[in-house]
Amino acid sequence: MNTPRTTQAWQALDAAHHLHPFSDAHSLNQLGSRVVVRGEGVRIWDSEGQCIIDGMAGLWCVNLGYGRKELAEAAYQQMLELPFYNTFFKTTHPPVIELSALLAELTPPQFNHVFLTNSGSESNDTVIRMARHFWAAQGQPQKKTLISRINAYHGSTIGGASLGGMSYMHAQGDLPIPGIVHIEQPYWYVNGGELSPEEYGLKAARALEAKILELGAENVAAFIGEPIQGAGGVIIPPSTYWPEIQRICREHDILLISDEVICGFGRTGRWFGCEYFGFAPDLMPIAKGLSSGYQPIGGVMVGDRVAQVLMNSGDFNHGMTYSGHPVAAAVAAANLKILRDEGIVDRVRDDTGPYLQKKWQDAFADHPHLDDVRGVGFLAAFTWVKDKSRRELFANPGEIGTICRDIFFKNNLIMRAVGDSMVSAPPLVMTRTEIDEMIALAVRCVGQTMDALAARGLV
Ligand SMILES: *Cc1c(COP(=O)(O)O)cnc(C)c1O
Repeated sequence: MNTPRTTQAWQALDAAHHLHPFSDAHSLNQLGSRVVVRGEGVRIWDSEGQCIIDGMAGLWCVNLGYGRKELAEAAYQQMLELPFYNTFFKTTHPPVIELSALLAELTPPQFNHVFLTNSGSESNDTVIRMARHFWAAQGQPQKKTLISRINAYHGSTIGGASLGGMSYMHAQGDLPIPGIVHIEQPYWYVNGGELSPEEYGLKAARALEAKILELGAENVAAFIGEPIQGAGGVIIPPSTYWPEIQRICREHDILLISDEVICGFGRTGRWFGCEYFGFAPDLMPIAKGLSSGYQPIGGVMVGDRVAQVLMNSGDFNHGMTYSGHPVAAAVAAANLKILRDEGIVDRVRDDTGPYLQKKWQDAFADHPHLDDVRGVGFLAAFTWVKDKSRRELFANPGEIGTICRDIFFKNNLIMRAVGDSMVSAPPLVMTRTEIDEMIALAVRCVGQTMDALAARGLV
């Protein structure tokens, strides 16, 4: 167990020794980090005893909610039995075998193999190597450029951040690496102009075709996208987008990669985001909901077309010590069985997901400064805007989002701000009663935000 300390003592030690991801250490340490000590269901508790509704499922990952003893039990039993063994040198073990078979069962039919990693970032590094190796093994080593999108998020390793389209990440560490290019994101609200969402979806997809023609299809290995951009602000493409992307990939013979790290494992009310939008990718990076965050584990689902080539072209010189870690694999398998056997994904599709979306609409669709109230399944977002009639955003993006996010945080509701969009991705086990409670709290927080904005002369 952790040494019990006062909140202040914890904060001081944290400030002295812990560098936080994606944080400004100076301002964070002046404020002091909130110390989270416990979780149960859709709630977490901090070291001051405050109970917080987790509207982000940790970091989009605690799909099952907190406190599932079956997962703790799976980890404990596996640690007693075999805490570690590798899968590099002609060995395997039961947890990795069971998880791989289960994934083949739960994923779309073209997927019958998985390559396991420890995170979404490693999964995306793996797809870069795999996609390039796939073409090189067929005598096309020059077919190696990957096309991604502006404002995409694919992780934070050198490969993942290069595939991602976040300019503030590229600005540190001389990214992207060569051979990765970015096209427009399918964000109708901002980029759609006078076009209908459906017309704009086709236009945004055809940016891919234009880029392939510019580079030459013989030089392009793959296109990668999140079915719905998560960290970029829950950007839901028009329904026309993904079918057109698929047509273009097939026509020009480039691999289609669906980054399912957030959308996978029920987030959209389907098992995978590509099923929601109706397309069939060749490769699928997975992580997050794979273990509901109880253990660090990720993977790449490898479609039959790619698997056949990989399995017939000698060694694939890639892997991590902990690829297919037995404890993580056992926990992931236990998590997937609960998601399946308790019908949680179907409940999000048929019941709680539509209920959640309607509640967000009822709460904010008519608000004078909130627009683009959007969502699918258990993903949702809304955006602070200056003038709804003209889809005009505020001049200083992120200013209002940050104010709003801090008010939510103070009121014990966790949502994230992306620019001036507030985004939410609660645990998939959230009940109707808990949804009511969360959204009532969000309405109060938005009211307080309006007061704060008025006090500063922003509205
Ligand atoms: C979180 C995320 C990643 C990176 O996963 P990590 O486990 O943080 O490395 C990759 N892709 C998407 C779509 C993500 O949301």
